[in-house]
Amino acid sequence: MRWLLPLALLTATTQAAPVTKPPTGQAKAPPSTACTKELDARGIKWKRASKKGIADGVQVLGPLNGVNVVSEEYDLVIDCSLAVSLYEAMAYVRGLGIEKAAFSSAYSRRKVRGTNHLSKHSFGLAIDIHAFTGPDLGTVSLKNDFEQGLGDDIDCLGHPLTQGGAALKILQCQLVRSGLFRLVLSPDYDDAHHDHFHLEAIPWPDRTELRSPTPAIH
Ligand SMILES: [Zn+2]
Repeated sequence: MRWLLPLALLTATTQAAPVTKPPTGQAKAPPSTACTKELDARGIKWKRASKKGIADGVQVLGPLNGVNVVSEEYDLVIDCSLAVSLYEAMAYVRGLGIEKAAFSSAYSRRKVRGTNHLSKHSFGLAIDIHAFTGPDLGTVSLKNDFEQGLGDDIDCLGHPLTQGGAALKILQCQLVRSGLFRLVLSPDYDDAHHDHFHLEAIPWPDRTELRSPTPAIH
């Protein structure tokens, strides 16, 4: 039996050497960018995610500003610029007593419905959030709790009838006015958005400052 071990070693060596690179080549620290330095400065846990179409792809690995932004199906893989905006936006979400924001779609290669244009989801710059959960609020969903047609240019909030409707409307007003997003679409926009907020950030190199002085289009 003594000859078996050297033979096994020889076999392993001859088979492995020509085709397998040492795995250490993949374990290098990801290159940081001006944007990922902002993630680090905020204490956000992330790792590099390389996806077609995403300029500065990251996978967010922990809560954003105390809020878990999660999906039952997908990892949170987005462009870094959207990750920074979401982190800042979650301060408003947390302020409403919410601990979890559920998203249905983030990075996804697809066209805007009815057009030939690639959606910003294709570049990791958009996310669709459909429900929020907190200990006092319970779970509120855009589909069941958003009260359409509230407010106007002067009084954004209007007069919501329910606690869930008020929370979602307050949040929409804050997100639109925060300057963190180029676009905030809600059930008020059209039928395609009847059950989610579509939040869209601009690419980091195009941002002259973290918050734009102009409200998002909604
Ligand atoms: Zn969307």
